[in-house]
Amino acid sequence: MSRYPHTLSVVVPCYNEAANIPALISTLAKVLGEVERLQYEIILVDDGSTDDTFNALKSLRDTNPRVSWIRFVRNFGKEAALLAGMKSARGDGVVTMDADLQHPPELLPEMIAKWKEGHDIVQTVRLGRPTVTSSLWGQCFYLLLNWMSDVPLADGTADYRLISRRALDVLLALPENMKFLRGMVAWLGFPSVSITFTAPNRHAGKTTYNVRSLTGLATDAIVTLTSKPLNLALYIAGFTLLIAVLYGAFVLFAFSRGLVLVKGWTSTILLILFLGTANLFCTGVLGLYLRAVLAETRRRPNYVISDCAPASIPIRPWSIPAEQVANSSPVGVALDDQHSSSLVQQKERK
Ligand code: UDP
Ligand code: MG
Repeated sequence: MSRYPHTLSVVVPCYNEAANIPALISTLAKVLGEVERLQYEIILVDDGSTDDTFNALKSLRDTNPRVSWIRFVRNFGKEAALLAGMKSARGDGVVTMDADLQHPPELLPEMIAKWKEGHDIVQTVRLGRPTVTSSLWGQCFYLLLNWMSDVPLADGTADYRLISRRALDVLLALPENMKFLRGMVAWLGFPSVSITFTAPNRHAGKTTYNVRSLTGLATDAIVTLTSKPLNLALYIAGFTLLIAVLYGAFVLFAFSRGLVLVKGWTSTILLILFLGTANLFCTGVLGLYLRAVLAETRRRPNYVISDCAPASIPIRPWSIPAEQVANSSPVGVALDDQHSSSLVQQKERK
C-alpha cells in the first residue's frame, strides 16, 4: 500500500442517537486529525430515527465539511444502515463503528497502522459484556455458530472494524440479499488481524437491542453462514430409526422367550412426544431456510433512502449523474447506482 495520502471513510449507523453524535464527531475529528497523511470522511446513516438525530446530522454537516449523511424512510436495522454507508464510502479503507462511543475512536490510530501494514481486515473483539443476559446469550450464540459454521467467529466480534477497499468491493459484490456482515467479513478470508478492547458504557441513551431482536440476528446469522442445521433432520431420523430397530429386536426377543410385555402409557406417550418434537423441530429448520430463500428470490432492497447529502469536501467526488441531481430532493443526491435505484423506488411509491 504505497498510495499517499490514505483516504478513510468512517461509517456510523445512527438510530435515536441525537445525544451521542456531536460527542462522537468531535472525538473522531480530534483522533483522526492527529493521524499523519490521512484524509477522511464521516458518513452518518440515520436509520429512521424518531428523536432529534436527523437535525443533529444536518447541523453537524453544516459545521464539519467532512460529514455526509444518508437518511432512511424508516427503521431498517443496523445491518442495512451499515450497508448503505459502506456503499457510498469512497475511501481506500472503510471503518464501521457505533454512534454511542462504545467503540472507542482512540483505537483508530492502531487500526489504521495495522491496515497500512497490509492487513485487509482489522477486526476488533470486545472483551466482556455489559449485562449477564447478553453475556450468556452471546456466548451460547458464538458457541452454536462456531460449532455449525465453517467460518470461525470469535466471541465478542464487534461491528467495529476497518476493511480495505479491495475486501469491501468483494463484500459488496456478494450477491445475497440477506447479509450478516460480521460473518460475511470473516468468510471473505482476506489477511486480517484482531484488536481487543473493553467497551465503555453508552455515552448517552440506551441500547435498542433486546433478546428478541438478538435472536432474530442469530437466526439470520446461522441461516446465512451455514446449512448444517438442515442435516439435523437426517441425524434425528437416523437416531429414531436406530431406537425403533433396537426396540423391535427387543420385542421379538421377548416374544420368543414367551415373556408378556406390560403395556403402558408412558412409553407410548414418550415416543409420541419425542417423534412429534423431532418432526416439528425439523419442519421449523426447513421453515427458516425457506424464509431465507424467499427473501433472496424477492430481491427487495435492504433499505430505502429518503434523502442524502455529501460532505462539502468529499475525499473523492460522488458519482452523481446529472439527471439524478435534477430529480432528487433539495439536499438529496443519488450516491451511486444502488442508492439511486432506492431513491427511484421511493419516488415511485409516493
Ligand atoms: N442501530 C441502528 N439501527 C437499529 C438499531 C441500532 O442503526 O435499528 C445503531 C445504533 O444507533 C448504534 C449501533 O447500531 O450506533 C449499535 O446499537 P446499540 O448501541 O443499541 O447496540 P449494542 O451496543 O447494545 O450492541
Ligand atoms: Mg451500543
